Amino acid sequence: MSNSIIPSADSNNYKATYESYEVACPICGKWNIFNRISDIGSINVASGKTVKCLHCNKDFLIVSDKLNLNYEYFLKGCDDLIKQKNYMSCIINLCQSCETFFMKCIDIKLLWKPYRSGVFGGYKENKDFDDFAEKIHDQFDKFTYQKLLNVFFDLYLNNKNFKNKDDISNYLDNLLELSKREPSKKEIKAKSTGTQRNLFLELKELKINEIRNDVVHKDGFRPSLVDAQNYLNKVRRIIEEITKALDLEDMLSYCVYSELMEQK
Ligand SMILES: [Zn+2]
Repeated sequence: MSNSIIPSADSNNYKATYESYEVACPICGKWNIFNRISDIGSINVASGKTVKCLHCNKDFLIVSDKLNLNYEYFLKGCDDLIKQKNYMSCIINLCQSCETFFMKCIDIKLLWKPYRSGVFGGYKENKDFDDFAEKIHDQFDKFTYQKLLNVFFDLYLNNKNFKNKDDISNYLDNLLELSKREPSKKEIKAKSTGTQRNLFLELKELKINEIRNDVVHKDGFRPSLVDAQNYLNKVRRIIEEITKALDLEDMLSYCVYSELMEQK
């Protein structure tokens, strides 16, 4: 194949973010910052894609790329924003990382777990899955932080599971109502125990959406380095600990793997 004569970029020294892929050109050695949409033409994993060096204009091949979950990109992005002293943007990014994390957890309950257990038919019959995914995302697109959090609580605090397509459809029909209801501390304490209970309570108290609103307000809160770093550490820890406490690690890697397979 023609690829064999195209020089390859370094597979170890690159930087992958949600929006960009950075690597040195193997021909002229200069560092390239490619935007995934404008320069690579795809938001999918960039491995195997041929790109044109932005400096010497020669073609080269991207060999490896890391596919992360959206909220991991947002969290990683926060480290860069702090280095660049953009503490306000860091808070905005943190709020988005929580929103995408809640959405992923919701997807696991409503889509991926049912998919894995065969609710949508065999592995090759993806149409039902795609239809449901579209339906779900159409509805959730309008939801911001608090509504996503409320649905997250409803699904995980009440340990809901969906055995068939009707169950999922019924749930979606009641979504608007469910999304308006935030569980009280008392309810959280009554319905959960141990580590899970502490994390649910911490998540309820986090209110990073309110901090974000204060930040974007014209005369609002101007976070310091210490503020931004503290919030980043806190959100990162809560997300990591919830992932473990709710046993989501396996399902999360299943999502990344399934999405990866779909792109081949
Ligand atoms: Zn070059």
